[in-house]
Amino acid sequence: MSAPNAREIMTALVGFPTMSHDTNLPLIDWVEDYLKSIGVTPHRMPKTDDPRKAAIFCSVGPNVAGGVVLSGHTDVVPVEGQDWATDPFVVTENNGKLYGRGTCDMKGFDALALYALQRALTVDLKHPLQVALSFDEEIGCTGAPPLINAMAAAGLPKAEAAIIGEPSMMKCVTGHKGSSGFSVHIKGYEVHSSLMHEGVNAIMEAARLIQWANAQNDVIRAEPGGAIGQIFTPPFTTIHVGTIKGGTAHNITAGDCNFGIDWRFTPDDDAKARISAFTDKVAEVDAAMKSIAPSAGIELRPFFDVPGLKPEDDGSSEALVRRITGDNGTHVVSYGTEAGHFQNAGYSAVVCGPGDIAQAHQADEFIDISQFEAGEVFLDSVIDHLRA
Ligand SMILES: [Zn+2]
Repeated sequence: MSAPNAREIMTALVGFPTMSHDTNLPLIDWVEDYLKSIGVTPHRMPKTDDPRKAAIFCSVGPNVAGGVVLSGHTDVVPVEGQDWATDPFVVTENNGKLYGRGTCDMKGFDALALYALQRALTVDLKHPLQVALSFDEEIGCTGAPPLINAMAAAGLPKAEAAIIGEPSMMKCVTGHKGSSGFSVHIKGYEVHSSLMHEGVNAIMEAARLIQWANAQNDVIRAEPGGAIGQIFTPPFTTIHVGTIKGGTAHNITAGDCNFGIDWRFTPDDDAKARISAFTDKVAEVDAAMKSIAPSAGIELRPFFDVPGLKPEDDGSSEALVRRITGDNGTHVVSYGTEAGHFQNAGYSAVVCGPGDIAQAHQADEFIDISQFEAGEVFLDSVIDHLRA
């Protein structure tokens, strides 16, 4: 049996409903078998605290530095509650578009990367081509850091360029904001509201933290900000509270309040300092609450932490992708990717992949066939670069 082409690989990958809340092992098994069938050694990395998930990576060509790593994720966002015209897990062609969950974000690129290995095997590579496919990207990019560590532990030389193939219409994206978020649980102390001085009202304590966030937004906005921040819209870090829930009755000091708070950092902002300003404020409010009722207090649960992608000075990834695509424009995007994790680990990283982010996560997600083909041409050029 001959090896599958790019489109056949995508069809296979989309057929596995690897929504982030579910297992991705059937997909990983398929990729493992595929790699073996074309003569590439697969490295499988199980998720440590969840046996239902694994990542997979591989390398072809000489075991030397200076190669390229193509990075993708295997998970997709859910389809529940979405009104699809076709089966989301069957690739369906219509009008020059390929429909299916993940066709755009980002099993299309995964398939192209896996297919590129076949061609890489037939030529004389001077530097390696690596492919790294993660889990849990859609729920906070938490799968990339252990995957990057596993690649190093397996002895893969560090690539000179990391190309994260998120949909960018094949534009060279060199920056995005970072983000962090916490679930905040405020545990109050219930008394009748006529005696509110003896109770701790979780909602009103939450309000202190939310008001702190409002005040911080004003402060940050008034700051001059760094040069890199200026290319983003808006050109400053923002703090946002998107959900809140609490209380049981108008005359009881609220026993519980939960809210979600998140930051979107410009990549040159000091994210650590911003977060510790918040945790300092939390500690202050927590201490005041406990002085009234020792059982009261505040619990923080981090739920995502995606580092920003900082445009690099003379970055090797950027130079490579610009040379191949001819794209010399400045592009930054508003969505987070695994690129910041690669950059933090010492890689030069950019985002460049086929398809339009506007179609990601939507019902009737699709990728234009012309974009899919452009992705294939692009990776052919990456291979040519690795031969030189
Ligand atoms: Zn994605």
